[in-house]
Amino acid sequence: MLPAVARGHRGWFHPCARLSVRMSSTGIDRKGILAERVAVVTGSTSGIGFAIARRLAQDGAHVVISSRKQQNVDRAAAQLQREGLSVAGIVCHVGKAEDRERLVATALEHCGGIDFLVCCAGVNPLVGSTLGTSEQIWDKILNVNVKSPALLLSQLLPYMEKRKGAVTLVSSVAAYFPRMELGVYNVSKTALLALTRTLALELAPKDIRVNCLVPGVIKTDFSKVDWGAGGLCRNRVLPVLSRCQLHHRGEHRSGRLLLSALRGVGVAVQLRSQAQEPEGVSR
Ligand code: NAP
Repeated sequence: MLPAVARGHRGWFHPCARLSVRMSSTGIDRKGILAERVAVVTGSTSGIGFAIARRLAQDGAHVVISSRKQQNVDRAAAQLQREGLSVAGIVCHVGKAEDRERLVATALEHCGGIDFLVCCAGVNPLVGSTLGTSEQIWDKILNVNVKSPALLLSQLLPYMEKRKGAVTLVSSVAAYFPRMELGVYNVSKTALLALTRTLALELAPKDIRVNCLVPGVIKTDFSKVDWGAGGLCRNRVLPVLSRCQLHHRGEHRSGRLLLSALRGVGVAVQLRSQAQEPEGVSR
């Protein structure tokens, strides 16, 4: 059990930020495959990150959820806690060093260690061409989508390596099949694949596995431009999905098998599996 769970509410509050926490007393599968493990999930107050956080907690993990906006953190944490899950929430804009530090400190202080990191936070502030993108937007997309997972992991590494942790980065089908209108976002999600491979090599000797989740098109706020009236879905997205043999779109609440993977089953299994060294790594 979390030290903080034993202590009750008091231990969860941090002087710098209000936490959304209710200690759960029932309904947690303490014997689940992730029992007594601690997972930090970024960008987890809605959409795919929220679904992953929920699934990890249902499998017994203690989960620290986070995102930029306090009201989103409060709402998401309250919802999961109502379900009896062991979840704490804290504000963390992954592009801000001080927020990342606070996330790490909070997880350590209250969970006693960290086993898993799932980097789901991602932005696409521009729908437009790559060469028409301002330097400011380039910086924002690369900062949040590519640099922040690496920087957060570097802060967590000393603690994760004690527990042979595992990492999942969230890329996109756009990494393999770039969409014209997504510009720099395509670039950032492709860079995440390279980051995954590089970190997997670097961290294999420490028994930390690094994998990448590549969602297709999932019906969330993030992809609403694809779903609204006159959206891009019919003309642009569906041909992409059929090219990569994903013949359907997903809803993060759907029960279908593939989509279950996106809800977190795949992530849970991936986080739990035995370490395997990437090809070419020798000890
Ligand atoms: P979503 O429903 O819009 O959720 C995004 C989450 O991230 C929210 O909790 C948001 O909360 C948080 N967030 C946004 N910017 C953040 C930042 N800078 N720092 C920390 N948290 C931040 O999006 P989604 O569809 O689940 O997408 C999640 C990930 O999946 C993204 O990396 C996206 O690229 C990837 N993806 C999505 C799809 C799709 O079709 N939906 C397909 C492929 C890949 P706040 O607003 O409170 O920060």
